[in-house]
Amino acid sequence: MKVIKFGGSSLASAEQLTKVRNIVKNDPTRKFVVVSAPGKRDTHDIKVTDALIAYYKAYKNGNDVAENQNWIIARYQSICDELGITGPVMTNISADIKALATLPIQGNKFLYDAFLAAGENNNAKLIAEYFSENGINAKYIHPQDAGIIVTPEPGNARLLPSSNEKINYLNELEETLVIPGFFGVTEKGDICTFSRGGSDITGSIIAAGVHAELYENFTDVDGIFAAHPGIINQPASISELTYKEMRELAYAGFSVLHDEALLPVYRASVPLVIKNTNNPEHPGTRIVAKRNLTGSPVVGIAADGDFTSLNISKYLMNREIGFGRKVLHILENLGIRFEHMPTGIDDMSVIMRNRYLTKQIERSVIQNLTETLEPDTLHFEKNLSIIMIVGEDMNEHIGVTARAANALAKAGINIEMLSQGSSEVSVMFIVKSDQEKAAIKALYQAFFEA
Ligand code: ASP
Repeated sequence: MKVIKFGGSSLASAEQLTKVRNIVKNDPTRKFVVVSAPGKRDTHDIKVTDALIAYYKAYKNGNDVAENQNWIIARYQSICDELGITGPVMTNISADIKALATLPIQGNKFLYDAFLAAGENNNAKLIAEYFSENGINAKYIHPQDAGIIVTPEPGNARLLPSSNEKINYLNELEETLVIPGFFGVTEKGDICTFSRGGSDITGSIIAAGVHAELYENFTDVDGIFAAHPGIINQPASISELTYKEMRELAYAGFSVLHDEALLPVYRASVPLVIKNTNNPEHPGTRIVAKRNLTGSPVVGIAADGDFTSLNISKYLMNREIGFGRKVLHILENLGIRFEHMPTGIDDMSVIMRNRYLTKQIERSVIQNLTETLEPDTLHFEKNLSIIMIVGEDMNEHIGVTARAANALAKAGINIEMLSQGSSEVSVMFIVKSDQEKAAIKALYQAFFEA
């Protein structure tokens, strides 16, 4: 049996939903269908999840919410009308959307999550009804009944290990199950979402829990490209990737798949395929434990901007026992997560994402580090991008970094920092953000066009 997940763009309109129905109907092993909330129909449209955020804000601020409610209900209604759905599902959806504005505001740390989750939850009800009226024996199932029990961390839920057994019972149900993505339920019964884009995570959790033969993740592209198509004209498409390679690429900007979505299928050894709802015959990109090595050391080049480096130097740093620990302890106390930590003999850089920093936090970091460690120099360096060249076959090849560095040098790009993890799945270059695109072009040329 397969788990199949559809993203918001695949569910945005009646036209898309017709394709979705055909895809599910054409293969009876597609038994578990995980759905996102309706996405944008065109670039000017609003995602239902974003409309729910606006609704939440209006409600929390005590504003009139009628317009927000009407827009969201009308969005579902128009899909229902176009699909000719006759059942009473819209009454249920409409009541559910309105009921959000009766939830307690004070002391309710799951309020935001309850609003957000309504996009997926109501879409699953609508799709189950549509399937049932069109030749698929389908049933909507709430994450609580599916056994997706999660930690009570709003916007950042994690599956409780004990859930897997409960999820496995879904195998015993006969119908094609339509499960809303993006959220689970805590042990106390509160709705708690994963991070944004988290329906991919639900698909993966279900695939692992039911021991699916395949997790099919349907989106609006033919799979994964070796570099961003907005930067490289018609980049090579990748037919197979390992979980590790995908993890590295997803981390650094390949947003086709949520980076947390790999873990459950990886642990359960369920292969994953990224496919296109608009072109389902295309084989897409398969993500597997082991792939046929193609001979090329690099499978993909990813980049992500908006990084900041905290640069610390102190003469004889290497002799000072506990220096690194003290730095990290200070960051930990201030709630800052670090991403990378390249070091020299007398200096150390801590790379973090800009979004976790504010002027106030930066001041506290400088103050605490100065008092505790008396460094010679200490400053934040902004506007950095990381560029990763990724490929499991890299450790079998000599000169991959040399080739990359050479390409960057020829393009006049200064490498601010460079790092390679022990697993040799990727090499990471840090460059100034205004050189990010040029760096991708130079690396793509060196590894895919040379
Ligand atoms: N609808 C949610 C979001 O926009 C989750 C998802 O689409 O995966 O983030």
